[in-house]
Amino acid sequence: MQSVQDLADPLSNPRRRLMQVQRPHGDDAFRHRAEEARSWTDLYASYGWQVTPSCNGRRGQAPGGLSLPPFPCPLQDLHPEASPGWEKEVTTSPYALDVLWAERPAYGVIARGGGTAVVASLAVDVLTCDEVIERMARVGIIAPVLRTATVREFRVIGERATVVISNAPQPLPQAHGVTVQDWPHPVPLPGAAAGGHVEWVQAPVPEIPLPQAAAVMAALRPPTRP
Ligand SMILES: [Zn+2]
Repeated sequence: MQSVQDLADPLSNPRRRLMQVQRPHGDDAFRHRAEEARSWTDLYASYGWQVTPSCNGRRGQAPGGLSLPPFPCPLQDLHPEASPGWEKEVTTSPYALDVLWAERPAYGVIARGGGTAVVASLAVDVLTCDEVIERMARVGIIAPVLRTATVREFRVIGERATVVISNAPQPLPQAHGVTVQDWPHPVPLPGAAAGGHVEWVQAPVPEIPLPQAAAVMAALRPPTRP
C-alpha cells in the first residue's frame, strides 16, 4: 500500500506501474496467505461489505491430493468460484466466513457489488490510480481506490483503477472511459497488503461514507476546453 507521501512524489509516481504479482507457492505459503485473506475479510465485513473467497485454483485437484491439475488457475484472486452460488454465499458473518475459508481457503477476497449490496464499483480505464485520487480530491471526494491488474493470456499487461462507490444506478452510466460496473458484480478485493493481482492504493476509511456514482463520474470528467 502506498502512503500519501509516495503518491505525492513524482519520482515514485510513474503514469503506469505494472503490479508485481506474487502468487504463493507451496502449501505453507498458500495457507499463510489464505489466513491473511480471512483476517482481511473481518475488516471488510466491519464496513458491511458482503464477501466470499475468490477462486482458489484448486478446484481440479483430485481427491486425496493425488494429482494437481496440469494448469491450476493463475488468476485465483481476481474472480469468484465458477459456481453461480458466489452471489448467494457472500456474507458479513465471521462464523460463515470461517466455514467458507475452511472449505475453500483462498488468498483472494470477492465482494458482492451493486444491487442490494452496500458497495458498488466504478472502473476507470483512461486515468492512472494516482490521477483518479487527485481528481476526486480536488472536489473533496476521498474514496477507496483499488489497483487491479489487467491480464491477457495470463500475463499482467497493465492496471486499472477501480473506485469503490455506494451505489450502481440504473441505467448504468458509462462515459469518457469510466464505467459503473453492472450488478451484481464481483469486486475483487486485496487479501493482503501486496502481492496479489489487486491492491489498495487508497484504503477505505470507515468514518468517510462511500461516494455516490454520479459525484465520482463528475469528478473524473475530462476538463472542458474553452
Ligand atoms: Zn480461477
